[in-house]
Amino acid sequence: MTDPNCIFCKIGRGEIASPKVYDDGVVFAIKDIHPRAPTHILLIPHAHVGALADAAPQEADAAARCVRAAAQVARDVGVTAGGFRLVVNQGLDAGQEVPHFHLHLLAGRRLGAMG
Ligand code: AMP
Ligand code: ZN
Repeated sequence: MTDPNCIFCKIGRGEIASPKVYDDGVVFAIKDIHPRAPTHILLIPHAHVGALADAAPQEADAAARCVRAAAQVARDVGVTAGGFRLVVNQGLDAGQEVPHFHLHLLAGRRLGAMG
């Protein structure tokens, strides 16, 4: 269920210290180490979910839970009124760096056009 060499699996297990701003047992959230906006939080399934297109139903469910968690975290940190953006990078062209599914929650400034 987890990959011993994956950095997000290690953070999820607590092997690498990174304060969790949210954790419901299925999904946890941490602040991005290189924030691209005043609020930049990553929603990450505890289970190692790799390529989204190949995700098993249970993995896809864990990915979907990240959206629900993002809505909760957005409320918790007070960005629902100003608005926010959710981003998933998948694969080479999207510039995915960490091959464990995660959702970026970005907020706190005008985010501009996508692409
Ligand atoms: P992606 O390009 O979608 O794979 O995004 C990976 C994100 O993880 C990047 O925004 C990194 O800044 C972030 N990141 C990598 N390592 C850590 C870490 N140890 N703690 C918090 N964020 C991290
Ligand atoms: Zn992983």
